[in-house]
Amino acid sequence: MASKPQPVVAANWKCNGTVAALTELLAVFNDAKVDHDVQCVVAPAFVHFGLVQAQLKNTKFAISAQNCIAKSGAFTGEVSIALLKDLGLKWVILGHSERRQYYGETNDVVASKVHACVGAGLIVIACIGETLKEREDGRTAAVVIGQLAAIAKTIRVNDWEQVVVAYEPVWAIGTGKVATPEQAQEVHHIIRQWMASNVGAEVASKLRILYGGSVTAANADTLYRCADINGFLVGGASLKPEFTKIIAATK
Ligand code: PGA
Repeated sequence: MASKPQPVVAANWKCNGTVAALTELLAVFNDAKVDHDVQCVVAPAFVHFGLVQAQLKNTKFAISAQNCIAKSGAFTGEVSIALLKDLGLKWVILGHSERRQYYGETNDVVASKVHACVGAGLIVIACIGETLKEREDGRTAAVVIGQLAAIAKTIRVNDWEQVVVAYEPVWAIGTGKVATPEQAQEVHHIIRQWMASNVGAEVASKLRILYGGSVTAANADTLYRCADINGFLVGGASLKPEFTKIIAATK
């Protein structure tokens, strides 16, 4: 098997955390001995950027937004690419299933955000994944490829250097029902094959494809052994000290 690309392990804190709890957690992240080549990422809620920027000292970590908009100016309640860049942020999660489900972000909306963000020099964690109904209807590959193809249509081949894909089956997010390594690997392989055929073999082999959905310290090791899994996007377990064990699983 060809060697894997540098793994990415990202903490998606979603709309969670108190100043006190996150301060404690950041101390744990700072103390974590991460001695292998891995990119760790923390995505706090916008209001916690200042806290994380002030307290996160571990140089293996970058800070990410959980979303942004491609416009700036009179958009009350939103955060633009320009605002993120002004704070020195380099990473952004886009197209999370909660954004798609609760805020009506279609494949085209997500793709246009990815396009704008890579154009602005940000690194994007682009989330894709099927619902339970879609899986049960045998449409997993079609849905995931549809989401990916929408993005591929809007960016150039070279732009993929700034994109990390996160495969997150919606039925596995926050449910404790993790995909089996076989289920995850099957879809990761489909994604990589599609990329090889439609974007390019080199881009496909370098692309980091993360798994997300009920990842914990208990299942990360086995999942990471799958050939096409290059790291994790973690929700619930990223709010706990065990996140450092998930990072260690990518060694
Ligand atoms: P979870 O969330 O780890 O709590 O399942 C993952 C995600 O939504 O990114």
